[in-house]
Amino acid sequence: MTGFFFKSMSKQLFLFKCGSHIGYKHAINEDAYGAYPELGLWIVADGMGGHNNGSVASRLTVEKIAQSVKAGHSLSVAIQEAHQSILAAGQADPMNAGMGSTVVVLQLKLNHYTIASVGDSRAYLCSKQSLTQITQDHTFVQNLVNQGEITPEQAKIHPYRNILTQALGAESQSEVDIDIFSGALQTGDRLLLCTDGLTNRLQNYKILKLLSETTSLQQATHALIEAALELGGQDNITLILVQLA
Ligand code: CA
Repeated sequence: MTGFFFKSMSKQLFLFKCGSHIGYKHAINEDAYGAYPELGLWIVADGMGGHNNGSVASRLTVEKIAQSVKAGHSLSVAIQEAHQSILAAGQADPMNAGMGSTVVVLQLKLNHYTIASVGDSRAYLCSKQSLTQITQDHTFVQNLVNQGEITPEQAKIHPYRNILTQALGAESQSEVDIDIFSGALQTGDRLLLCTDGLTNRLQNYKILKLLSETTSLQQATHALIEAALELGGQDNITLILVQLA
C-alpha cells in the first residue's frame, strides 16, 4: 500500500509505504497494519493467542484505534479502548479467549510526531545516516537489560525473549501502561514501525544499511522484508515507513 496525502490539491504532506509477509513458519498472518493518512495515523499490531485468533486481536486493535482517533480521542484513550474491545471479544466468544496484541501507533501533525507503544513492536527514527530505536520493548528480557542483569546481546537469544509484560487484551490488566514518545521530523527523516518478525532477524546496523542504500520507500520496504526472509524469516513480518513529502 503506497499513499500520498494532500492537505490541499497542491500540498502533499507525507509519503508512506506498508508491507507485510506471512513468513515461513505460520499458516496465517497475525500481524495487522493500518494507514490513515487523512488522520496522520499509522498503526502496526502483532496478534497472539486465543486459539490462533491473534489475527482477530490485531485487526480489532487497528480498527478500534483508527475509529477512536477519528472520533477525536487521544492515542492513549484510543489504545485503552482497543484493549477493552479485545477483552470484550474474548468474553463474547470462547474462540477469542486469551487473544491479545501489541501495538505501535504513529500520529503526525505536520512535522510533529507522537508514537504510542504497548508490547514489543517497535518504532525507529532513521535520520542523517543514523538509526535510533524510539520505543522500548515491554518484555521480560528488556526488564532484565534495564536492571543490568543481562546485556542486549544476551536478550536477543534469551529463552524467555518472547514473554511480554504488556499486551492489549491481557486479562490481568484493567488498563495497559502505554509509552508515549514525541519529537519533530526533519525533511528526509524516515520513521519505521514494525513487528518483531523484522527486528528478530535484522540487527539495527542492517536496518540502517538497507534504509541508507534505498532511495524510495517502496524499495526500502521490499529490501527490509526480503532481508528478514533471507535470514530465516519464520515469523510474520510487517512494517510501515513514513516520511515528510
Ligand atoms: Ca511476531
